[in-house]
Amino acid sequence: MNDIGMMREYFGCECGSLPHVFELTYFKPRPNDSNEDSDIIYLHLFVEQWRRGIFPWFGWEDIFNFNSCYCPFNSHLYKDFYCGSIYKRWVIAIQHFFGKNTFDDTILDGTGIMDIDELKRLYHFLEYLDPYAPKEVEEAKEIMLESDTYHLQILIDDLGDPKFEDEITTRFQFKPQKGLKRWWRAIKYGFGCCQTNYGIEDEFVITPKDATLLKKMVQKVIKKNEEVESKNKSM
Ligand SMILES: [Zn+2]
Repeated sequence: MNDIGMMREYFGCECGSLPHVFELTYFKPRPNDSNEDSDIIYLHLFVEQWRRGIFPWFGWEDIFNFNSCYCPFNSHLYKDFYCGSIYKRWVIAIQHFFGKNTFDDTILDGTGIMDIDELKRLYHFLEYLDPYAPKEVEEAKEIMLESDTYHLQILIDDLGDPKFEDEITTRFQFKPQKGLKRWWRAIKYGFGCCQTNYGIEDEFVITPKDATLLKKMVQKVIKKNEEVESKNKSM
């Protein structure tokens, strides 16, 4: 047990990228302490501005390998490239400028956890809020958190195939906002100056109800992924 009363853990994304991490912080109440922060978990997202590309990269060795996603004759190369490119960044910036936020089109970035040990660690962290959790909570496929600037969706990425593992995915986008502030943010984002990084302004709050819903989601994914793993082992 940590005697300063603060618990903090980091959860990395499946892609292994160092700036693709989220941090959970919980202030554990000390005995005789009526700490107001003790019944929520703070979530900070560490991500980078990843839409930088101008031309898709392709592998010379894959030039005639039509099954490879790096083959320049494969349309997937261009689809994937577009999603991570400067062009998409401007599409999002213009949509945001005009106040159009549809979730699928304007996702800024996301992280994913699939590893069973990582999921178990997340599950145990969420248990800090168990003493404050409401008694009856239904199941959900996703939860939605918000900071000053962003909406953060946490959901089960279910590939719909029993052969593959599922993932707990986080995706975020700009919150709708009025007038000048929104225009300024859209322009900043378009020019690549709108990083979501280590700032306090991008703090999300997980309430006991969110934690309970999320725990159920995590538990579901752990169960599914354990089944997939044991099937793969027996093959
Ligand atoms: Zn990642």
